[in-house]
Amino acid sequence: MAESADSRRRAHYLTALGIEQWLPRRAAAATTDPADSTQAWQQLSEEVARCTRCDLHRTRTRAVLGVGDRHAQWLVVGEAPGAEEDRQGEPFVGRAGQLLDAMLQAIGLARGHNVYIANILKSRPPGNRDPAAEEVAACLPYLERQIELIRPRLILAVGRIAMQNLLATQGSLAGMRGKVHEFGGLKTPLIVTYHPAYLLRKPEDKRKAWEDLKFARSVFARLA
Ligand code: URA
Repeated sequence: MAESADSRRRAHYLTALGIEQWLPRRAAAATTDPADSTQAWQQLSEEVARCTRCDLHRTRTRAVLGVGDRHAQWLVVGEAPGAEEDRQGEPFVGRAGQLLDAMLQAIGLARGHNVYIANILKSRPPGNRDPAAEEVAACLPYLERQIELIRPRLILAVGRIAMQNLLATQGSLAGMRGKVHEFGGLKTPLIVTYHPAYLLRKPEDKRKAWEDLKFARSVFARLA
């Protein structure tokens, strides 16, 4: 049987993840990008755009609220905007973003379709240093508000910084993988995996990231 464009594309994404196998892909859920962009979102994006709660506003080009489907069932949370994100105002647009897109595609998701992508911090820390505790404290309420508005069924925390700040732990990423955690008052299920920028530096861990993604997909299937 002739190979479909879809299966070729899937193979490409899996190859980007270092996976040489074929797996059926869940169809992405229908997107409802709200034409009725609510007042709450409008208010939140204006507030974030002019935020001065921490010193990062002095050095950022733009605050980066997030991107994607505001009715998504999946929420991906990273660390903070990097140089390119700061310029473009969108999370994960650099090389790490391309790998994140490949990771999402490998489990049947695509940026903007049933997934929303945000960060712990909305402003870039100079030199991409780790976020300071006071920056996280100032910024986390914005992410909490996003979570209230989106009400995702599952949160995928990518990287140690997202994991530690969402779960209020100093634990290692390795120790938190392969389990379903909970976030916030809504007790949203949360799963952790490696940050794509880390995977670019350490491609041998892509296999473990793929295990995490399959785990997340199976947990999600049981929730849905
Ligand atoms: N790394 C992140 O954690 N977030 C981005 O938006 C880009 C790179």
